[in-house]
Amino acid sequence: MRFPDCPVRTGLAKAEMPVTLCVMLHRNLWAPWRLSYLKQLVHEQQSLGEEKPDKGCFLCDALAAPWPGDEARLRLVLQHDDRGLMILNRYPYTNGHLLIAPAEHVASLSDLTPTGRAGLMELTELGERLLRAAMHCQGINVGINLGRSAGAGIPGHLHIHLVPRWDGDTNFMQTVSGVRVIPQALEDSYAQLSDMLSRITQG
Ligand SMILES: [Zn+2]
Repeated sequence: MRFPDCPVRTGLAKAEMPVTLCVMLHRNLWAPWRLSYLKQLVHEQQSLGEEKPDKGCFLCDALAAPWPGDEARLRLVLQHDDRGLMILNRYPYTNGHLLIAPAEHVASLSDLTPTGRAGLMELTELGERLLRAAMHCQGINVGINLGRSAGAGIPGHLHIHLVPRWDGDTNFMQTVSGVRVIPQALEDSYAQLSDMLSRITQG
């Protein structure tokens, strides 16, 4: 988001500044003294037992579903093999948001064997080809959130996000209110991706 009229840039008088947020968006506030506070917070949470392991893991549940089969389809699994899992995200950032996960419930790349890491990357590459072929996307965001502090919803089970992107795919809803518009139903996305994946893997 850009603020071309930001008073920091335009030189407006302080009284004319609409909100201090505008200033905050353009500067870093360094506060190294907060590190000891944050470490203390983590320590207290651990002693209080608040940092609990994942209660349930939808990725392991999906891995346990017979493949192929109705349960796997209901869980939006697109691909399941020795390397792991490709699944359509039920809470997508946009149409076709995929998750790639290893077959083991491990939290980080370091916990995988070299073979496991290679398999994970192969599935990610398959996801890239699938999104380009089925969604005709012009770009893809590929990312991993390691740990809850980094934004991982299921920190115990490593997974890679693939988010297809199109030129101009942000709109006023996202810009103004932070609300994303998902124009395609999950079932339709799943059917479209599943059909294309069959053609890719069998052709
Ligand atoms: Zn798991």
